[in-house]
Amino acid sequence: MKYIDEFRDGEVARGLAAAIRAEADPDRRYHFMEFCGGHTHAISRYGVADLLPANVRMIHGPGCPVCVLPIGRVDQAIRLALDEGVTLCTYGDCLRVPASDGLSLLKAKARLGGTSGDIRMVYSSADAVAHARKHPEKQVVFFAIGFETTTPPTAVAIKQAQALGLANFSVLCCHVLTPSAIASILESPEVRRYGTVPLDGFIGPAHVSTIIGSRPYEFFAEEYRKPVVIAGFEPLDVMLAIRLLIRQVNEGRAEVENEFSRAVSRAGNVKAQHLVAEVFELRRAFEWRGLNLVPYSALRLRKEFADFDAERRFHLDYRSVPDHKACECGAILRGVKQPQDCKIFGTVCTPENPVGSCMVSSEGACAAHYTYGRYKDFA
Ligand code: SF4
Repeated sequence: MKYIDEFRDGEVARGLAAAIRAEADPDRRYHFMEFCGGHTHAISRYGVADLLPANVRMIHGPGCPVCVLPIGRVDQAIRLALDEGVTLCTYGDCLRVPASDGLSLLKAKARLGGTSGDIRMVYSSADAVAHARKHPEKQVVFFAIGFETTTPPTAVAIKQAQALGLANFSVLCCHVLTPSAIASILESPEVRRYGTVPLDGFIGPAHVSTIIGSRPYEFFAEEYRKPVVIAGFEPLDVMLAIRLLIRQVNEGRAEVENEFSRAVSRAGNVKAQHLVAEVFELRRAFEWRGLNLVPYSALRLRKEFADFDAERRFHLDYRSVPDHKACECGAILRGVKQPQDCKIFGTVCTPENPVGSCMVSSEGACAAHYTYGRYKDFA
């Protein structure tokens, strides 16, 4: 398949691995963060880390939408279904994110019994709008999560609902922003003060960058002197990005390079950006799992679309809830720990019974390690 097969070619991978070994200076160590869960998945699935020399280390970042969703936001969604009797629609992975009291949306569904509430999996925001149109007697709430990639479709759904005059549709908006999370990592005490998370550069997200373009990362290259290479999600994309990062470090450069030029431009998708700006505005602060409150890191609906804002419609307040005591998701999302550092990884916490969010989605670091590397991790 075009753009897939040629980026999974084993012979080319061997050549790239040799080139990386040749370019990596044996007298220095390289630490690169792959921001995005899609890259974490690719690195684990294709064994990319095994092809790297010992002095090149990859650090998982917080770019998995399900992983960074804090318990308090899932609790809000559960309350809407259990207490307000709404039909809560969301993506499949979201249903399994652990919340308070041992619940998840999936487990809450079993508690609904004969109440009027419902919890449904949808494939898109458009499915939620269609459900609201079909069931005018029900209040339908779309639990919208994700980075810049999934935000434009939510904006389309809200505009469509407005155009249709749908009085029974609203959105619980938990869309978050990539550049704010990168800034939060770079400003974290572990990176800035203690140096316990050494960072020499970033692999920039693929899908997110198709929307926002490569320009927003220029700030990190210029202000923090951290190279960024935007890369696609195939193994050769990732390997080429690592090679480019090593080369930048060796040459003392800190620039934004775009390995994923088949889909990403400097300006990004301007039409989608305008659409998002029309419907959403910045929140002053938003809690992320692992990163705590991050200023200006998430979106809410503008007042022109307030009728479709579930937080306003149902007067939802937000309560922050700490993670499970044994769960290390927060430290993993900050790059401080690895999944195998968690005492309950692969025993109490598995993809079938996730205790923390990083074990839920295939893009989560714990799920990726469990699926593709747990035996190796404990060898
Ligand atoms: S293994 Fe489970 S409990 Fe441990 S850090 Fe990962 S998701 Fe959290």
